Amino acid sequence: MLEDYDLKNLISPALAWFEANKRDLPWRKTKDPYGIWVSEIMLQQTRVEAVKGYYERFLDSLPDISSLAQCEEDRLLKLWEGLGYYNRVRNMQKAARLLVEKYEGRMPADYSEVLHLPGIGAYTAGAIASIAFDIPAPAVDGNVLRILCRVAEDDSDIRQEKTKKKVTDLLFPIMPSEKPGSFNQAMMEIGAIRCLPNAAPLCEKCPWKDLCGTRRQGAFERYPYRSPLKERRIEKRTVLLIMDGERIAIEKRPKEGLLAGLYQFPNLLGHLTRREAVDYVRQQGPDPVYIETLPAAKHVFSHIEWQMRGYLIRVSDLSGFGEEGSTLLLERDRIQKEYAIPSAFAAYTRYINLEKGK
Ligand code: SF4
Repeated sequence: MLEDYDLKNLISPALAWFEANKRDLPWRKTKDPYGIWVSEIMLQQTRVEAVKGYYERFLDSLPDISSLAQCEEDRLLKLWEGLGYYNRVRNMQKAARLLVEKYEGRMPADYSEVLHLPGIGAYTAGAIASIAFDIPAPAVDGNVLRILCRVAEDDSDIRQEKTKKKVTDLLFPIMPSEKPGSFNQAMMEIGAIRCLPNAAPLCEKCPWKDLCGTRRQGAFERYPYRSPLKERRIEKRTVLLIMDGERIAIEKRPKEGLLAGLYQFPNLLGHLTRREAVDYVRQQGPDPVYIETLPAAKHVFSHIEWQMRGYLIRVSDLSGFGEEGSTLLLERDRIQKEYAIPSAFAAYTRYINLEKGK
């Protein structure tokens, strides 16, 4: 149990190992709280390798808190295109606006004040406070939960918020006053490259190999404990790439809900046949001259799974298609440069030569 384990013993070996083994990552070269914030938000739900390119591009375009606060929404979403979970960047912008209003565009060097910003939870607040300002606050993410539950043979359910809170509360009093940011990063790094999430842990190269109960017992299957996930709702959809010689139809999604405010190809609930798809387009006005069936695709959100069927439909003239105000008829280049199409549609963007996240 974590409550009975002396967590202080983990600090020195973790710090020494981190100095010698840490990966060279762009966000590790800075103590700028804005850069650290951007990287931590991007790294939630996205792999390190994928984040690298996005991180540099985002900071080149929006180098500080005020530029983020002022950025126009479609441009902001375009910069985030491909990272998914767009509410992350919307909340960052809300927080940036608040920082401009209340803190002259600077991140406060105070854990509680950082924690009160939109979109910032205990993990991100701890990461920013400890790495940028050397404040001894823990940053407990999935990696940290996994490795600490393994070390201490704790069978708390790591899917539950209360486990994260327990671990955060236990770490607070033992955080080192020197290099708290390195200790947090060391734990994340051990989780990322030693105590692997989906493969056998590399215990022989782990700095905690002599301190770890799970290694001693060989009980890797048992720790950490995760309760089973609820089943996802399946939603069948038909995606339509409708185009004439020059333009492609895209639509803006509603302001609220899934993929709010992003752009999509017209799509309908259910799996339409070729004939039904052609009839649907014809009812909207344009005259279809060609239809091609595209491969089926799947996209998994946290609670819903889209099972998609797609058609590419060429029409003689797109004018008049769709609802005024939400449908746009645009050349490929403009979509590529200005409009964020979420990766849920990635399987279909390639049929019109749209590259994602560029
Ligand atoms: S010794 Fe093995 S199980 Fe224990 S924390 Fe290290 S890698 Fe994980």
